[in-house]
Amino acid sequence: MKPIIGINCDYEEEGKQPYSFTNRDYSEAVIAAGGIPFLLPIIKDKNDVKFLLKKIDGLLLTGGNDVPPQRYSEERHEKTVCVHPDKDISDFTLVETSIQTKKPILAICYGTQLVNVALGGSLIQDILSEVKTPIIHKDSKNERYTHAVTIEKNSLLYQIIGADCIEANSTHHQAIKRLGNGLKDTAHTEDGIIEAVEWKDYPFLMGVQWHPERMTDSPHHLALFKALIKASK
Ligand code: MN
Repeated sequence: MKPIIGINCDYEEEGKQPYSFTNRDYSEAVIAAGGIPFLLPIIKDKNDVKFLLKKIDGLLLTGGNDVPPQRYSEERHEKTVCVHPDKDISDFTLVETSIQTKKPILAICYGTQLVNVALGGSLIQDILSEVKTPIIHKDSKNERYTHAVTIEKNSLLYQIIGADCIEANSTHHQAIKRLGNGLKDTAHTEDGIIEAVEWKDYPFLMGVQWHPERMTDSPHHLALFKALIKASK
């Protein structure tokens, strides 16, 4: 039986009929790794989310805009673009309920920042304004831009990827500041920015700052989805 992987949708309403969506890369990555993708729109009722999670074997948390800084008791930086308030409520309910029920989770970009904040951590709201670094983490002109990421050998991430240095794409302007409870940082760029986290005392919780779903032609990146599928069986 292939596991069913819930994928949280992004949400937009400006200038259009309000719509929930994800880039197709996410569902294709789940299919390529041997799972069945299942898109999740905004659902705000906790009991509905609890019931829904009984039907789902694992969770893929996608990229998006920024976590509202009031979630970690900070004022909004001018470069911070928050997700829609309904998506914020829906995503936090989904993450908190998934963690309570110990669902396997793979989190990507905003998804990683969301998990970090849900576990009590905080974020660098804008790397360019807050960190002195020669490394570009968001190149708005080049969607295929990559930088090197160094992976800690003493980590599940290293076991999954099987290399201590990989090239990863980078389209994030925020990053983890204070780590959430239980999380361990397992990968960094040379400037010290956290590129991946995992939770040791949890069945499977992995968060990466890059977009492996756009690089699944590389076995290093496809391996992350295979690990989620394996943990969800
Ligand atoms: Mn980066």
